[in-house]
Amino acid sequence: MSDNEQVHCLIIGSGPAGYTAAIYAARANLKPVLYQGIQPGGQLTITTEVENYPGYPEGIQGPEMMVDFEKQARRMGTDIRYGLATKVDFSVRPFKIEIDEEKWLDADAIIIATGASAQWLGLESEQRLNGFGVSACAVCDGFFFRGKEVCIIGGGDTAAEEALYLSKICSVVHNFVRRDQFRASKVMQDRVMNTPNIKVYWNTEVDEILGENKVEAVRIVNNKTGEKQVIPVSAYFVAIGHKPNSDIFKSWIDMDESGYIKTLPGSAKTNIEGVFAAGDVQDKIYRQAVTAAGSGCMAALDAERYLSLMEHKMMTEAKTL
Ligand code: NAP
Repeated sequence: MSDNEQVHCLIIGSGPAGYTAAIYAARANLKPVLYQGIQPGGQLTITTEVENYPGYPEGIQGPEMMVDFEKQARRMGTDIRYGLATKVDFSVRPFKIEIDEEKWLDADAIIIATGASAQWLGLESEQRLNGFGVSACAVCDGFFFRGKEVCIIGGGDTAAEEALYLSKICSVVHNFVRRDQFRASKVMQDRVMNTPNIKVYWNTEVDEILGENKVEAVRIVNNKTGEKQVIPVSAYFVAIGHKPNSDIFKSWIDMDESGYIKTLPGSAKTNIEGVFAAGDVQDKIYRQAVTAAGSGCMAALDAERYLSLMEHKMMTEAKTL
């Protein structure tokens, strides 16, 4: 046996999927250890009101909900730790996982619940001015631009939600949408269209963010007419979707072309027996807190079955020796 710490059930990630997996795994006595990753609580910690999670008739703030998830997982007996999984070796059993590029753990079963992160347009100016008016989180940074004109890129539910949030703080919100329609749900579309200080630009893409040391304006282009325009703004918020946090698993786990982990239909099983995936890292369709939590539950139940099968197999082998 190696000198590495031995973990029976390792959970990587601390969004609704990770914590739900932890609650179920702890109750099944799998002694789960959960590493929270760089954003404890996951994407919901940068959300405002969650209105669609059942059980909260008045709605709840995202960060508050994640504190509740964490408390519940801890109360059930999960060992919750700060730290990031930085490398894995799934060629051996127990599986090997490097934490914070420092130490290695051995785990009998693994639940990957690493979620997804915001995507960027890929402009040089996005990087250069990040933190100086460029942000992927209106809820985190909108406050700094009180009373100012700002812009947001995207036409999905996230962009709509963030545009509405910004409209309450900022004087004008310029919303650039690359097609001639939103992707957001009808209710969110209506809210955006009925908010007087949100100005929606169809068929519009951002060509460049202008400003030496901070955001001063954006140059936009109409992708139908080619017409360019400079709009003075103090902040640039991007809300164009997410990328699954699956890079460290790339050479081991089957994924689709965007990096979403493939799970067997109706289960949380990956192509490697004993490694399970839950939440946004394996879901590019639903991506809801409630579906992530549900898949976390599935992953823990699958891990429980796998681990008891392994124990049974080992006991039978020991008896026959
Ligand atoms: P999304 O639904 O994938 O929408 C992304 C938006 O960004 C789309 O308008 C897309 O345009 C645009 N976009 C993508 N790449 C772009 C680029 N390079 N340049 C310009 N625009 C670009 O992502 P999301 O809004 O983050 O939502 C993700 C999921 O979470 C969805 O299922 C959503 O329903 C859900 N969600 C729900 C709630 C809620 O219910 N309260 C809140 C937030 C999110 P195209 O339409 O042209 O592709």
